[in-house]
Amino acid sequence: MAMVPRITVVEDEEALSVLLRYNLEAEGYEVETVARGDEAEIRLRERVPDLLLLDWMLPGISGIELCRRLRLRDETERLPIIMLTARGEESERIRGLSTGADDYVVKPFSTPELLARVRAMLRRARPETISTQLKVGDIELDRETHRVHRRGREIRLGPTEFRLLEFLMSAPNRVYSRAQLLDGVWGHDVYVDERTVDVHVGRLRKALNLSNMRDVVRTVRGAGYAIDG
Ligand code: CA
Repeated sequence: MAMVPRITVVEDEEALSVLLRYNLEAEGYEVETVARGDEAEIRLRERVPDLLLLDWMLPGISGIELCRRLRLRDETERLPIIMLTARGEESERIRGLSTGADDYVVKPFSTPELLARVRAMLRRARPETISTQLKVGDIELDRETHRVHRRGREIRLGPTEFRLLEFLMSAPNRVYSRAQLLDGVWGHDVYVDERTVDVHVGRLRKALNLSNMRDVVRTVRGAGYAIDG
């Protein structure tokens, strides 16, 4: 089994910090959150995570300054850093600065996009921590080739059904509400009706449950959906 990647989130907006923790933990990461730049610097001296999500504007010292300091230390010289920046002028400025960050995500960002960037960066930096193959019961999903097989037979899925299955398979047996699926698969700045989730779950179920095969998509009345191993 792959080791659990550790991610430190440095973000002073509490609601965003909570959202990030929730979504990253749902993906199976171990998460530590810090609200101040100076506090983050101290914590990062004690323990270096596998990836850092770093807000630009922070109390204490700024994300840019922290990033610069981290690059000067041997222990954090190569630490993967994704910078969170505000939309507008500031994010244009930050791109022009050589802060040493590996990637930038502009707020407000969609959760699926951020999770994809985190995954891509961990795969490059710590390939042993990220599995490209997900397996739940007799279903296998390959994140790189975007292929899905059940008992060796290829299952053809549309892009939304693929993302939905990937999301459900990343935490087998866990029940997700329609709102959580909307946020995790479609992203919170996309306006789609919760019934859209039902439509795509229906398509996914139909594609997965080939003749005489057990229905692996579980509907929990009043709660949501899960995929069972
Ligand atoms: Ca901030």
